[in-house]
Amino acid sequence: MEKIIGITASDGVVIGKFMFFGTQKPVVEKASPLSADLEKERFHSARREAIQTLRDLFKTAVQEAGESHAEIFEVHAMMLEDLDYIEYAESLIEREGCTAQWAAQRTGEQFSRIFSEMSDDYMRERASDVEDISSRVVRILCNVKDLNLNDIQDKIIFAGDDLMPSQTIQLDRSKILGFATQKGSRVSHVAILSRTLGIPSVVGLGSGLIDYHNKTAVLDGDNGILWIDPDKATLAFYQQQIRLRQQEEKDMAALIGQPNQTADCITIEINGNIGCPEDCELVKQNDGSGIGLFRSEFLYMESKTFPSEDVQYEAYKKVLEAMEGKRVIIRTLDLGADKKVPYFNFDAEENPAMGFRAIRISLSQREVFTTQLRALLRASAHGKLALMFPMITSVEEVKKIKQIVTETKAQLIHEKITVAEDIELGIMVETPAAALISDLLADEVEFFSFGTNDLTQYTLAADRMNPKVESLYDPGHLAILRLLKFATDNAHKKGKWVGVCGESAADIRLVPFYFYIGIDELSVVPSAILKLRSAMKDLDMKSLRNDRFLNI
Ligand code: PEP
Ligand code: MG
Repeated sequence: MEKIIGITASDGVVIGKFMFFGTQKPVVEKASPLSADLEKERFHSARREAIQTLRDLFKTAVQEAGESHAEIFEVHAMMLEDLDYIEYAESLIEREGCTAQWAAQRTGEQFSRIFSEMSDDYMRERASDVEDISSRVVRILCNVKDLNLNDIQDKIIFAGDDLMPSQTIQLDRSKILGFATQKGSRVSHVAILSRTLGIPSVVGLGSGLIDYHNKTAVLDGDNGILWIDPDKATLAFYQQQIRLRQQEEKDMAALIGQPNQTADCITIEINGNIGCPEDCELVKQNDGSGIGLFRSEFLYMESKTFPSEDVQYEAYKKVLEAMEGKRVIIRTLDLGADKKVPYFNFDAEENPAMGFRAIRISLSQREVFTTQLRALLRASAHGKLALMFPMITSVEEVKKIKQIVTETKAQLIHEKITVAEDIELGIMVETPAAALISDLLADEVEFFSFGTNDLTQYTLAADRMNPKVESLYDPGHLAILRLLKFATDNAHKKGKWVGVCGESAADIRLVPFYFYIGIDELSVVPSAILKLRSAMKDLDMKSLRNDRFLNI
């Protein structure tokens, strides 16, 4: 039995077969016993097979995940038809008398180098694509088959090096018991996504997971542990944990329809965080009061170009209609840092998390911002919309935003388009600057929502994406609690309401603190809504008189 410690990303325990989905490295020989013509024929036949596979993948992905997710397969197929690419490989075979696989590998490396040296961001991104298509051809030539989830019948623990949000969305969830990855951190967007989907996950497990391929494993998402070849006692322990959790889930379901309140009847609103319109169903199943954070940038990440006003309007309208008059807080574009799109020209930055991202992009690319605002304001006619702006650091930014919102609204009304009259405007308080000038910001908006994921990384100087500083990244740190209390008091003094939408909103240990400072709303991944309701049921604020929070 082996125990590997990682970082808990989504809770729950699963037992099953552990399968590592990574690329097995083929051995590529240079010298060929065959003639150049025969090697060229081998190269073309592998290339044709790869193109056919990619076109099949494209068709499946269109049906299962939509055209925007599928497009990458078509791009890869087209790259394999590129004449420069083909000629380079052929000339290597002729010149070097080498095998087709060696030529394909060298061609991939050469084109990848050329792409990676280009100044254009989009072209630089193609460097990994050209390596990807070349290694596909090499694997065919060396007869190395990749593991495909479609070929697997049973449910498995899916392991990999890392996962991109778009990959996670595309996987057939009916076959996945849990996720285990070598890289990643608790507040990376992939971890947030697996929590939204309610799939137990442990990330940051370190390299070498491939060695456990096909073994039996226990994935303990509650404690961030992966057990390989568990012994009888460990298995029995976890089987009991699973039974307890099933009972807990039944108990949770009994809480549907009940209020979110403490034993001494103090209430709080609990909303759901979502990344796409389909997630509304999960919020409703878990009895959320509404949507406290719709990360609108996921719409941009799923698309091959900037989504048009109409495409965005349809998505926002879908969410507002699904929530049937309950409040829906949509956050404007928060691209940048770890959320990049190939069609947007991101220059390389030393510190992207503190660079050109979120509202900074919206305010400098006015057309992008206005397109989104027009879509949002048009959609406001279909439900109860609130708008929220990310990464605020100054009052001037908020004044500028409000002016643009007012102008956009006036333009729509001039075009005889209906816009709701009562749209609340709020800001994310996710920089120490915003918390420290919260008295002034509270004059400008109707609500604050604490983005504790970023507030923690900026306040404690601990990168949220870096597993090495995970132990320093503590949303319960006194510095964060003080900022939360300070800004909440400032908002309440001005009669404004306050929420928390970062991941620590679901941290049960912090619930008494949230009540103590008078937080009005918590917004969490859908699967955490009922857990929070359950955790606060037995809380009696009067009995907390000696709690450590009272001395912050
Ligand atoms: C946050 O920073 O807490 C937040 C909710 O936003 P995101 O995780 O998308 O940066
Ligand atoms: Mg944030």
